[in-house]
Amino acid sequence: MKACVFCKIVNGELPATKLIEDKKAVAFLDINPVNHGHILVVPRKHYETVMDIPGKELGKVMEMVPPLAKAVTEVTNADGLNVFQTNKPCAGQTVPHVHVHIIPRHKNDGFHFGWRQGRYSEGEIDRMQWGILKALGE
Ligand code: 5GP
Ligand code: ZN
Repeated sequence: MKACVFCKIVNGELPATKLIEDKKAVAFLDINPVNHGHILVVPRKHYETVMDIPGKELGKVMEMVPPLAKAVTEVTNADGLNVFQTNKPCAGQTVPHVHVHIIPRHKNDGFHFGWRQGRYSEGEIDRMQWGILKALGE
């Protein structure tokens, strides 16, 4: 995709601090890291979200995560690590090319998700299960 920043990085049209790459995926350092060592792993091919990428190709992206997570934890002396992924602007996606964030974390580093603990009312969780299984064709 011509205008896509990550396609340009993958193709070498834009500079990036690359770490590893293979036929299917490329990993590079995020230019505006949450913490130093923040890594992005992207598929070479342009897909906007996880709803668009075939599972096998996402698998190739995810294969890079464990070794990178171990290496960056060692180098940054991190206490922990987040691996996450955004899809569409309402979920925080600013670059519409699938990417997985690997973020080294340190005790009291001030990065908070504000995780919400929602609740299901009576029967709602079962209706949700039924709806998802139906959409899956189960
Ligand atoms: P999102 O907000 O879509 O989940 O994550 C996009 C990430 O891409 C952000 O963390 C942002 O800092 C990073 N980013 C955006 N443009 C560039 C760029 O040109 N080079 C690099 N290395 N990272 C970028
Ligand atoms: Zn792209």
